[in-house]
Amino acid sequence: MTYKLYRDALRDKARKLVDPQISMGPPYNPWLIAKILDVQVQQEDLKGIDGYVEVIDGNYRAVIGNSADVRMRFTLAHELGHVVLMRSAAKGQSLALTRFRAPNLMETLHQDPEEEALCNDFAAELLMPFDQVKPLIQHTAHTPTAVWHINRKFRVSIQAAATRIVDIEGRFRSAVSLWDRTTRWPMPIWWSGFKLAAPEMTKLESFVANDWNPSFQLYSDMKMISVECKRVRNVALVVLTCGSHKLSGSKQERLKKNQQLNLFE
Ligand SMILES: [Zn+2]
Repeated sequence: MTYKLYRDALRDKARKLVDPQISMGPPYNPWLIAKILDVQVQQEDLKGIDGYVEVIDGNYRAVIGNSADVRMRFTLAHELGHVVLMRSAAKGQSLALTRFRAPNLMETLHQDPEEEALCNDFAAELLMPFDQVKPLIQHTAHTPTAVWHINRKFRVSIQAAATRIVDIEGRFRSAVSLWDRTTRWPMPIWWSGFKLAAPEMTKLESFVANDWNPSFQLYSDMKMISVECKRVRNVALVVLTCGSHKLSGSKQERLKKNQQLNLFE
């Protein structure tokens, strides 16, 4: 089976699991879903990891590190993704993904990046179901407000909310980043979605550092990238949207000319 088939199957499973809670509205409770899956959950002080799953005599137990509420919710949802995969492996399915997995071994001892990505995707669907999030961001997806809205309503971290929006809007079209403004030159703390080339990145840095405007526009490869920025105390949340507007003819001509000139420099 390919990665995409696994991902779709896991999303489908997440939707079915969260379905009984949908009528009550968000935030959705991963502890209730652990119960449905017959997984015992234990909170502990863990060092260096967020959580893991273990199997003892056929019983599944998720151990979650004590942490902020939003983080524990996502960790548990992620670990439940591992349980779903482990159970299907135990039934003889999903062989490709279990090449590093042995019974009774802790997850942290054999992390597979593909499986980690699948479990993050499962957690996102469980806590922020596509059908619930998509209509909410229909008109505001390209603003920092949308990120905060999803963060509060679905009780997930700002980063998880941002990643969800980027996934729904498309990684080639959308990017969200959080910036540290306490350093002399602002630095992204995390970044989700398409990347900028170095010259545009420099422009963005100086915009985040100096300008108090909430929005501006970058031009790259004939495309316009609109930038929405919300600065709160020491951080700035930046939302980039690519190619939503076409450049005017004269602007395109000018950019073309500049690029031609560069060719001969
Ligand atoms: Zn994991």
